[in-house]
Amino acid sequence: MTVDDHLQTPMPNFRKTLLKWYTGNKRKYPWRETDDPFRVLIAEIMLRRTKADQVEKVYNQLFAHYPTVKDIVNADEEQIENIVYPLGLTWRSTTFKLLAMEILNRYGGEVPQTRESLLLLPGTGEYVAGAVLSIAYNKREWLVDSNVVRVFRRYFGISTSKEGRRDKRVINMAKKYVSHRNPRDANLAILDFSAIVCIPRKPKCIDCPLNTDCHYYRDTDIQERREKDNKEVRNACWTR
Ligand code: SF4
Repeated sequence: MTVDDHLQTPMPNFRKTLLKWYTGNKRKYPWRETDDPFRVLIAEIMLRRTKADQVEKVYNQLFAHYPTVKDIVNADEEQIENIVYPLGLTWRSTTFKLLAMEILNRYGGEVPQTRESLLLLPGTGEYVAGAVLSIAYNKREWLVDSNVVRVFRRYFGISTSKEGRRDKRVINMAKKYVSHRNPRDANLAILDFSAIVCIPRKPKCIDCPLNTDCHYYRDTDIQERREKDNKEVRNACWTR
């Protein structure tokens, strides 16, 4: 199968296989169990450059002390800083306060439901906006991080610009990918798959449900795979 053939592969098949895999392999985190968009938003900011397992404890502590937007607005910033300290980046405590104030004052305590509005909030970006919209609101909104880029790059055999997350071709693929009746699960499926199976170094291709049509697995020799893996490790985003 050529690279062009791969690009003709209908995205629905790729997504269908991932969703099927996800049914039996999804990871559980408290921010996936809540129906509070504010908690999802805070979790996504915590997850930037931080492993999910590290975030879980801090997330639970923060919301045990400050369960609502209003509680965070009224909280002592130093207390929040003490809670988020183990995550390393203490700027996050300031961001959480500013974020809560903005949401309370401008949106009456409700997290906005458009990408444009989310992008104007402190501490957000395209990824966080897409994650909140799809995960908290189940909207057909794309998300791309370096892990999603890696899966697309390997499976479809595409090359991307150095900043793959901003590559228009990748973003278009992510938009097609999330066009599904359950965008939440579609996005969580590719994130979990990239963290468990299609990992940066030595992906688990032999057991992978996508291996039949995967460009990396079928059409790339071992030496080339090693070089590609090293590059992926350098670019990896360890948030998930
Ligand atoms: S076969 Fe390997 S490289 Fe291809 S999608 Fe699966 S894990 Fe990733």
